[in-house]
Amino acid sequence: MPTLLFIEQYFYPEGWGGAEIPRDIVSGLRQAGFDVEVLCGKDQYTPMRPGEVPDPSACGVRIFRVPRIAGGPIHRFKSLRILWFCAYAFPWLLMHRGVDLFDCILPTKMAQQGWAYTFQGVLEAMRPAMKLAQGPIEPGCTCLACHSQPLGYIHHLLRVGNAQGVRWLAIHNVHHTQALMSRLRSAILSDSWQPLYHELTEQLPRRLKEPLLE
Ligand SMILES: [Zn+2]
Repeated sequence: MPTLLFIEQYFYPEGWGGAEIPRDIVSGLRQAGFDVEVLCGKDQYTPMRPGEVPDPSACGVRIFRVPRIAGGPIHRFKSLRILWFCAYAFPWLLMHRGVDLFDCILPTKMAQQGWAYTFQGVLEAMRPAMKLAQGPIEPGCTCLACHSQPLGYIHHLLRVGNAQGVRWLAIHNVHHTQALMSRLRSAILSDSWQPLYHELTEQLPRRLKEPLLE
C-alpha cells in the first residue's frame, strides 16, 4: 500500500470534534492497510491536561507538528500520495505543492457565509449591490442554481435567513469546485499547468462586490 501524508490543522490528542474526526479517519486508513504519516499544527484549542498521557493506540502513526501547516515542509515527506482534510480554500495552490488527493468543507461552509466561488473571484452574495441582480451567480455556469435562480433572489433568501439561499450557493460552489478540478486535470494532461496556475492564482482570490456581467 502507498504511504499517505494526512494534513490537518487539528489532530490527536486534541479532544474536540475537529481533531477527533481526522484521528478516526487516519485510524480507518491504518486498519485498511495504508501507511500513514500526519502533518498537523500545534495544539490550540484543547491541549492535553497536566498528567494526561497520549494514548498511542488511538492512531499509532508518526505525527509531525508545525506552527503553520499551510507552509509546512511537505517536500520532506516520503509519502507517495497526500491527503488534505478540510483545511484550505484553494485546491490549485495545494496541487502546486504536490497534493493530489484532498477533501474540504469550504464549498458548503462558505456558502453559509454568503460566498460564491467563481472563476473571476469570490462573489459576496449578501452585499446590497446584489439585491436587484437579474442574472445568475456566474454567467456561463452550468449548475442548477445558475440555471434556475437569479442572484437577486438568492440574495433575498440569504438576507431573510431562508436556508434555501445557502443551499443554492452550496450547489453552485460544489459545481464550481468540480469544474475547477476538471480544468486542473486537463491542464496537467495537456502540459499547460503553469499558465493556468498563474491565471487562477491571480483571478480566483479576488473579492467581487458587484454582480458579474453577462
Ligand atoms: Zn453556478
